[in-house]
Amino acid sequence: MNDHLMDSGSCAGVARRRTPPRPVDVVGLVPGLAAWARDTVRLHPRRGAPSSTESSVGGPLLWPAHEAWPVCTQRHNNFSDGLPSSSRVPMVPVVQAFRSDLPPGVVPFPEGADVLQVLWCPFNHEFPGSPWPVVFWRDSAAVRTVLPAPPTDPAAARRHVPAPCVIHPERVTEYPTWDLPEDLADEWRDDFQRLREAIPPHAAIPLLSFFDFAEAPGIKLGGYPSWFTGEGWVDCEGCGRRMEHLLTVASWECDGASWRIWLPLEDRDEAGGRTVPVDPTGLDLGGVGSVYIFECRVCPDRPFAHWWDCS
Ligand SMILES: [Zn+2]
Ligand SMILES: [Zn+2]
Repeated sequence: MNDHLMDSGSCAGVARRRTPPRPVDVVGLVPGLAAWARDTVRLHPRRGAPSSTESSVGGPLLWPAHEAWPVCTQRHNNFSDGLPSSSRVPMVPVVQAFRSDLPPGVVPFPEGADVLQVLWCPFNHEFPGSPWPVVFWRDSAAVRTVLPAPPTDPAAARRHVPAPCVIHPERVTEYPTWDLPEDLADEWRDDFQRLREAIPPHAAIPLLSFFDFAEAPGIKLGGYPSWFTGEGWVDCEGCGRRMEHLLTVASWECDGASWRIWLPLEDRDEAGGRTVPVDPTGLDLGGVGSVYIFECRVCPDRPFAHWWDCS
């Protein structure tokens, strides 16, 4: 069953990206996972020159001239990086995604909004010690004059400021790893054993396992956070419920081994090698770490929060 290769939306005028099918039929071998399948949207950023009216990673935002550009006024931590040169740090664009560019149904947009904008302060914070993201939902039709982004603080680490990329959104089905309850993993132990035995030998990744192909790496909307060092769900301060995963901003689209599983068909040469780098954004979030952004879809105004992990 080709459950991984699903039809996807794509930005007008740019080639789509297709993740290859998984090496095994996951749900056929572990039927219990069917109820735990979740769709994510891999954004597949690639270096480019997006405009403010296009979806992007690290590109210009459709920001209204009458609205102040977001700034960070928090305390910063000088790990190995520098400190900001101002007490009001202009945030930098991270993701802009128009609803019309995304496969429907994965991320519910609030009523009246058709574009998601995520920015962050690129400096390290006291806790968690990562860039600090903020989330905006906007009606693009209400933006008449665009406010250009202010200059990035010159002291900001380049590896925390994503290079401008166009995106190629693709819907992919995921299965949980860290987020699968232990009692179910125990109950399905025989099924997982069958799955392990069915994984074909892979010349490049000799120890290929379920963990390698359950959750998509890279920058993605919805689905499961691909935890690196352990789960970091955040509860909503308003209602106490566990928040939903909105966005993972990962350092790399895939690593030196997993690109053989996760790199889209369009980014491989005829011999099966890579034609694009695995880190098109140039991000380096604590090694190969990620920033995870969550939101509460129950409380008014969709409060958000974040977590991060590093290598
Ligand atoms: Zn900050
Ligand atoms: Zn809430």
